[in-house]
Amino acid sequence: MIVNEKARKYIDMFREVKIASAATVDKEGRPQSRIINIMIAADEGMYIVTSKGKPFYEQLIQSGEIALSAMCPDCQSLKFTGKVKLADQAWLTKVFEDNPGMNEVYPGKTRDILDVFLIYEGSGEWFDLLHHPISRESFAYGREEEKAGFRIEEECIGCGSCTYVCPQGCISKGSPYRIDPVHCLHCGACREACPADAVKKLH
Ligand code: SF4
Ligand code: SF4
Repeated sequence: MIVNEKARKYIDMFREVKIASAATVDKEGRPQSRIINIMIAADEGMYIVTSKGKPFYEQLIQSGEIALSAMCPDCQSLKFTGKVKLADQAWLTKVFEDNPGMNEVYPGKTRDILDVFLIYEGSGEWFDLLHHPISRESFAYGREEEKAGFRIEEECIGCGSCTYVCPQGCISKGSPYRIDPVHCLHCGACREACPADAVKKLH
């Protein structure tokens, strides 16, 4: 098993939402995106399918990279960036079992034009903008979680300016002051307000 418990929760959420935007990069380096279905969430990652004639297929093969985003009704957004590889074709049967609507799109043997891809590693974030304060949680499997947002470092002189501009009130007093990363919007207002250059971007 590659997928840890936290990441499994979120890839299950991707599967529950099912419809996601999938982005790749074409040969000229231009971004391309389309709506896809997350067909299966499993202990080794997420499975998707596409047919061999599509630009999406070529881009997955050429780059081995994919970015997903999805809108979930009770939180607002999920995003993920990861790597893909061709999966064993035996997974196609399972895809059609778990997603019976596929039989109407690719009836009978016409399904053979499809290949299954496994998203075998990646990192992402769940982001709840619907409740106050906003909340976020990052996750990853097969790689480290990505550090994003801002951190206050030792240069902090304790002036408090950052707390007045923070839209989420997620900076607490201390030496140095501290940002609560769970409720941070990553807006950067604290960095702009800091007279001591103590607020550093994490990525
Ligand atoms: S980045 Fe924005 S939301 Fe986050 S601590 Fe700074 S001001 Fe607050
Ligand atoms: S504005 Fe900068 S120096 Fe002032 S409390 Fe915030 S981080 Fe510290």
